[in-house]
Formats: sequence, C-alpha cells, structure tokens
Amino acid sequence: MLVSTVELAWRARRGAELGLTGAAGVGLDWGAIIARKNRIVSSWSEGKDTGLERQGIAVLRGRARFLGPHELEVGARRVTAERVILATGSAPARPPIEGIERALTSDQLLERTTLPGRLVVIGGGMIGMELGFAFGRAGARVTVLQSGPHVLPPVDEELRAALVALAPEAGLDVRTGARVRRIAPDGTVETEIGGRAERFPADAVLAATGRPPNTAGLDLEAAGVAVERGAVKVNGFLQSPTALHVYAAGDVTGAHQHTPAAWYEGALAAENALKGNHRSVDFSVFPTAVFTIPALAQVGLTEAEARRQGFEVAVGRAPFEDSSAAAVRGETEGLVKVVADERTGRVLGVQILGAGAEDLIHVAAVAMRGGLSRRDLAGMHYVFPTLAGSVFDAMWS
Ligand SMILES: Cc1cc2nc3c(=O)[nH]c(=O)nc-3n(C[C@H](O)[C@H](O)[C@H](O)COP(=O)(O)OP(=O)(O)OC[C@H]3O[C@@H](n4cnc5c(N)ncnc54)[C@H](O)[C@@H]3O)c2cc1C
Repeated sequence: MLVSTVELAWRARRGAELGLTGAAGVGLDWGAIIARKNRIVSSWSEGKDTGLERQGIAVLRGRARFLGPHELEVGARRVTAERVILATGSAPARPPIEGIERALTSDQLLERTTLPGRLVVIGGGMIGMELGFAFGRAGARVTVLQSGPHVLPPVDEELRAALVALAPEAGLDVRTGARVRRIAPDGTVETEIGGRAERFPADAVLAATGRPPNTAGLDLEAAGVAVERGAVKVNGFLQSPTALHVYAAGDVTGAHQHTPAAWYEGALAAENALKGNHRSVDFSVFPTAVFTIPALAQVGLTEAEARRQGFEVAVGRAPFEDSSAAAVRGETEGLVKVVADERTGRVLGVQILGAGAEDLIHVAAVAMRGGLSRRDLAGMHYVFPTLAGSVFDAMWS
C-alpha cells in the first residue's frame, strides 16, 4: 500500500519526461499515507473477524498455550480439541546488538506519521529492501546494512545486481559485509565494514533481521509437538509427525513467509485435519515478489539453482530497454530473464525486474503450471505494445 503510493509519486515526478507539467512538484503527506494504510488494514481484519463469526465460528481472543495434548488455555478459558491447527505466524528477531532496543520493527516504523530524514536499515532481506526502497524513493536518505555478501540472498544474481544498481538513484546506500556493533543513544549505528569502523547517524533505525516462527509461550512440549530450527516441524500434510492431531500453517512452519502461502496452507491443513490426510503441499510453481521500486518477481528456479540441479540450461533475456511498451511509459528499467531446460525446452524459472513485475510473473507461472516449453510461448500472439510482450520475447532469445 505504502509502496504503491510512493511508486505512484515517483512515476508522477518523472512525468516531465513525458511532457506532463507540474509533475515534478508532487509531494507525499506521510501522515495521510499512514492513516489510509491503518484504515484499510483495520477494515480488512474487522471484515475477517465478523466473517468468521457470521459463519458460526467461535472466536476466543487471547494468547493460547497448550496444557496437554488436547487441552489449551486461552486467557481464563480452557478448551479441548480433537485436532489443533497452529497458525501463530512469526515475530521480528531482536539480534544481540548493544542498543537494539532503540531500533524499530517494521510494524513500528510503519506507525510513524513522519518520514525520517535518515533511515538506517539493519538487514538486506525482503523486508529491509522493500522498506529501504519505499523510504528512499519517498525522500529519506537510507543506508541498508547487510551482514552477508549480498542483499536478497535467494534472488537471481543478475537481477539482484540490476536492482542494486538502481539503489543510489532511489536514495539508498547498500553496504554488504557490515557487522553492526552498537546503536548509540543518539541513534548512530556503529558498524565494522571490511575491518574498518564506520558510523551511520540516523533519525530512525529499522531492525529487519528476519522473522523467526512464533512458537515461544505456546508450551508445545505439553502437546508433544516437535520444533526444528524454531519452526513447528510438519510433514507433507502439514501435520506434526510427533503429535498427529496437530497441524500447522503459515509462517510458524518456517517455510514460506508469504501471505498466499499462509492462505493455501491454512486451507490445506484444515482439510487434512477434518477429512484425514489426502492433500499434500505443492509449491512447485510458487510466484513471489519483492516490492522494491521497481519490483523483482520470480517463479521456479534461478539460473544458478538450475545449474546446481544438473540441468543443461538455456537462458533468454528481454531487457525493458528494448520494449516499446516500456519506452512509451518511460519505465525502461529492468529485464525479463527465462531459465529453460536446453534439452526439452521446458521453462524452469522466470525472473522479472521492472514495472509491473509482480503481475507479469503470473504469465510465467501459468505457463509453467501448464508445462509449456519456451518454444510454445515464443510462438504465441500477444497484444502490442504491452510489458507482457517482454515475457514472450525472452523466450526467443
Ligand atoms: C513488513 C512486512 C511486509 C510483508 N509484505 C508481504 C507481501 O508484500 N506479500 C506477502 O505475501 N507477504 C508479505 N509479508 C509476509 C506476510 O505478512 C506473512 O507471511 C503472513 O502474514 C503470514 O501469515 P500467518 O497467518 O502465518 O501469520 P500472521 O499473519 O502473523 O498471523 C498470526 C496470528 O497469530 C497470533 N498469535 C501468535 N501467537 C499466538 C498465541 N499464542 N495465541 C493466540 N494467537 C497468537 C498473532 O497475534 C497473529 O494475529 C510481509 C511481512 C512483513 C512483516
């Protein structure tokens, strides 16, 4: 929501190139943006709550914990259940850094009604990079401090490099190999990078160092539910192998931290819990996006992963610089990259960086679900001029 508003303003300001007048002066009322976000989020959750109750589902509000395999406590109430589904999500990690209590979580940062002049983001994962780009494009000076050698580790290397190349123009200074030592009382983040001490003064510090599954306080051992690396351990049916009446879905399983994965797993766990195990999880075609500005979306294998799995890999590329639709819109950053099996032509993965990537990726996802080859797709008709045309063009190259 916040990202789309900032993106709209950013695109509007570039309107001068397209002949728009007055576009350079488009401003952002941060308080109004946050208030609108709060209104929309609370209307969604109110709708869900009342929807559940209308369907005759009792909602007990409070923290739940197990007292025994089939018995739970929720506030002052005790409930028994034949089957239990755990869907307690994840919570922000608090890394052991001196002064970490001065850092904000993503929820806290998104409550602030003023835009910080200088934002330091600790962590260059999905949340760190999304909020880094949003605040940077909104006008904050942002520094992203990533401990490892790369930001967004699971992303295709080529697209990551293309995204990082856009960072300075978006107001981001991305620093890798950074060890954060301390957050000083004045908000300065004291860091060591490449053996040298560096200080980053900040008006706000965001800790975006991962979200471990929310299992603390559930007393899972009372139900015999096993935990692995902090996540509820489940089999392919989303069932605890050590407590067969317990299922788990969403972030608490530690597998995919995405809303659609939680929806899908929730429905599947409920079906298996109520009707017996007859559906197992299938994430073979699972499109995801990082909402940087522009967004980076992917489905299937990256080139490196496909090579690691032993495929003879054919790679196709269609830079948006070569797209008429992108030129018309003045949005020529990024590219579509296709990874295919050289022998069979089967599409193994597609990565897209650029305008509308989060929507375009579904063209590739549907094609992959249907088992289409790059030759099938390269021969398809498409509407001209469209950004989606680049997905088909990448199949030719
Ligand atoms: C800043 C940010 C941006 C994100 N952006 C995206 C995005 O663009 N797209 C996307 O797909 N995903 C995004 N995600 C991830 C997405 O929000 C999560 O993957 C999703 O919410 C997981 O759903 P869930 O049901 O597993 O957990 P949650 O939505 O976290 O719900 C868990 C619920 O359980 C409750 N709970 C916890 N413990 C107990 C207990 N003991 N008793 C009772 N209740 C308990 C919690 O209060 C919470 O209400 C984002 C996450 C963050 C933090």
